[in-house]
Amino acid sequence: MSLTHTPVVEGWFAGDGDDFRLLGTRCRACASVFFPREDNHCRNPGCTGGALEAVPLSRRGRIWSYTDSQYRPPSPYVTDPELPWEPCTLIAVELEAERMVVLGQAVPGVTVGDLAVGMEVEVVPGVLHEDAETIWTTWQWRPTGVTE
Ligand SMILES: [Zn+2]
Repeated sequence: MSLTHTPVVEGWFAGDGDDFRLLGTRCRACASVFFPREDNHCRNPGCTGGALEAVPLSRRGRIWSYTDSQYRPPSPYVTDPELPWEPCTLIAVELEAERMVVLGQAVPGVTVGDLAVGMEVEVVPGVLHEDAETIWTTWQWRPTGVTE
């Protein structure tokens, strides 16, 4: 039996390899972009409300902040309370075009000692954890100076 790849959250990211992108939504009226995606109504208080359409976010951004994560990230970043929390490096990445900060794990092997505020990173597909049947996929940030 082969393992299935399942996103930890449906609809937050799509694609493989260089086509992998986070998915947000954008208001057609005021062009505000939301991630995690907002599908009900525009949250811009100055906007009368427009239709929200799915939009891929920029692949690259710059490190706004980072930390060693010894505990679970806060809502809305979903973790499975049944699983032990594995410490990792968390990065908050500023996406210039969207004018927002997106939190995520660094790729395995990257520690806080490898990072600096302002460093360019790109989003790549990653594995949050595996169980008997499923590989749970997520997004991770990788410094663009690092190649596989
Ligand atoms: Zn709006």
